[in-house]
Amino acid sequence: MLGDMSAQGHPQYSPQMNSESELVLYEAAVAVATVQAEQDVDGEGVGAAALTDEGEILTGVWIDAMVDSACLCAETGPISEAHRRGRKLAASICVRWTRSSGATVLAACGVCQERLAIFGSELLIGVADSAERGFRFESLAALRPSPWWESIGDDLSPA
Ligand SMILES: [Zn+2]
Repeated sequence: MLGDMSAQGHPQYSPQMNSESELVLYEAAVAVATVQAEQDVDGEGVGAAALTDEGEILTGVWIDAMVDSACLCAETGPISEAHRRGRKLAASICVRWTRSSGATVLAACGVCQERLAIFGSELLIGVADSAERGFRFESLAALRPSPWWESIGDDLSPA
């Protein structure tokens, strides 16, 4: 539950998310993924939406490349934009959309979790859920209960 997570502390990273703002962020990612799917020969699109600490929604798309390791996750667009603007991200969600399956929430991959960690361990990440809505948000701390940076006593969060 989001209320439980915000009660765990780190008020400077509290995203003030509720069910409605979660849905708004999800729908922003779906909209981007749908547009991508319309332009894709296979009818597949991946989009991400992230919420800044000022309540702005930043979006991004999956970047394909000839070499798999050169592809960029959809989260990298909002992450880069947040850094450019000097903002923190409070929440992020990524959606894959196909003609046959519709929207599916994809949890941030391990590399993107590393990229998102700089914004604080209370950042919320959308994950797939078997409930009717199909997704929920979990804190990065919940997804990574034993992060490597705790071993060196660094929370990696910006001051
Ligand atoms: Zn990723």
